[in-house]
Amino acid sequence: MARPLNIDAAALDRAYVLHPFTNLEDHARTGGPMMVKGSGITLTDASGKTYLDAMAGLWCVNVGYGRAEIADAIREQAVTLPYYHGFSSMSTDTPAILAERIVKAAPEGMARVFFGSSGSDANDTQVKLVWYYNAARGKPGKRKIIARNRGYHGVTLAAASLTGLEGLHKGFGIPLDFARHVRAPHRLWEAEPGMSEADFVARLAGELEDLILAEGAETVGAFIAEPIQGAGGVIVPPKGYFPAIQEVLRRHDVLLIVDEVICGFGRLGTMFGSEVYGIEPDLMTIAKGVTSAYVPLSGCVVSQRVYDVIAGAGRTHGPFGHGYTYTAHPIAAAAALANLDIIENENLIGAAAERGAQMRAALADAFGDHPLVGEVRGEGLVAAVELVAKREPATRFDPSLKVAPRVIKAALKRGLISRALPSSDTLAFSPPFVVTSAEIAEIVGRAREALDEVT
Ligand code: PLP
Repeated sequence: MARPLNIDAAALDRAYVLHPFTNLEDHARTGGPMMVKGSGITLTDASGKTYLDAMAGLWCVNVGYGRAEIADAIREQAVTLPYYHGFSSMSTDTPAILAERIVKAAPEGMARVFFGSSGSDANDTQVKLVWYYNAARGKPGKRKIIARNRGYHGVTLAAASLTGLEGLHKGFGIPLDFARHVRAPHRLWEAEPGMSEADFVARLAGELEDLILAEGAETVGAFIAEPIQGAGGVIVPPKGYFPAIQEVLRRHDVLLIVDEVICGFGRLGTMFGSEVYGIEPDLMTIAKGVTSAYVPLSGCVVSQRVYDVIAGAGRTHGPFGHGYTYTAHPIAAAAALANLDIIENENLIGAAAERGAQMRAALADAFGDHPLVGEVRGEGLVAAVELVAKREPATRFDPSLKVAPRVIKAALKRGLISRALPSSDTLAFSPPFVVTSAEIAEIVGRAREALDEVT
C-alpha cells in the first residue's frame, strides 16, 4: 500500500486541513484524535488507543468497519470500469441494478432514483424537483418549503436553509427566503405541562396548517421531515404525528419530502423509518446507510406521481436540466450493492431491532433515574439521553456550562465515542448494527462513568 511512512500526519492536519464543524483556531493549536484503522465497532487512532464507536461514524457505518466484501466490490468495479456518466442517456450497470433494489424496498408508490453524493446535495435536488414539478403543473408560485426546528438536512444552500439549527445559519446569511420552520415534535420541551400526546399532535398539525394558510397554500410547495430528527436531538415523533401532518399536507396540495438519510436502510429496525411511523413520502432522501459510508452516495427517491409530471415537462423544457458529474457513480453503486447484500445476508435489520431494544433498555437502566436526566428515548438502534438541570419542571442547563460536550470529552478519554447534539444537552448513541451485547454493556457503562465524572 502506498501510504507514506514516517510522516507526521497529525501536524499536516493541523497545518493544512480546514475541518468541518470544528473550532478552527483550537484545532490548529491542538488537533484531535487521528483515526487510522477500524474493525467492527472499534477504531484505533495513530497513538494506538482504541475507541468503541457508539456513533457508527456519523450515524452511517452501519455494517461496521473493515468489511472486505465492500472493499472487494469497490476494487472490482474500479478495475472493470471506474467511471462513466449518466448524461444524455448514457449509463452504467451497477446504478441501474441498485435503483431497482432501492425502489423495490421503498414505501409504496416510489418509482425512480436520482443519485447524488451527499445527503446535502440530495436535499438541494429535492428542492429543485419540487420547484420543477410545480412549475410543470402550472403552479410555479408553490416554492416555499416548510421544515422543522431542530431538523437536520445538510449544509448546502438549500439544505442548510431547511436545517433548523442556528449554528448552521450564523454568519452565512441563511436561511434563504424560500424556507420556513415550524415547531419540533419534541414533547419534553415543546408541549405545555400536562399536555396529552394527542393534544400535542393536534397542536403541531394545527400550527402547520396555520402557517400554510398564513403564507398562502398557493406559495407552499413541500414539507420536509426526518422520521426521527437525528442530529437535532434524536427526537422521536409523538404517536399519530405523521398521519395528522400528512392529512394537512394533502388538503393543501403540499408534497412531503421524507429525509431518510439516517433512518434509511435499517437504523430503526425496519428498512425505512417511514414504515415505523406510517409515512407516505412523495419524495425520499437517502444517503449514509446505503453504502455504510464506504464511499459517498446519496439519492432522491421519487414517487411515480411526481416522476410522471417531471418526465412530461421534457416536452416543453427539453432534457431535464440537472445532474452532477458523479450522479450514478458506478463504484458507489457497487459498494452499495455489496453493503445491501451484507445487511440482507446477515439479517442486520433484525439485529438493529434486537440490539436496539437491548441498548435502550440498558440506557434506561443506567440513566433513567438519574436526577440530571430528563429523558431516555429512541427507536431501533438509535437513542438519546437528554440531560437537564432539573427534572420537574424540566429545566435546561445554561448552555455556557457545555455539560453534554464535557460528558462526551470524558467518554472519549475512556475510549468511547458518542456525540453531544447541538442546541441541547443530548448524548446520542447510534452504533453499527454489528454491535454485540457485550459491547452495548461497555458503551453504556463508560457513558455512565463519563456523566458521573462531569456531574
Ligand atoms: N439529512 C439528514 C437527516 C442527515 O442526518 C444528514 C447528515 O447528518 C444530512 C441530511 C446531510 O448529509 P451529508 O452530511 O451527507 O451532506
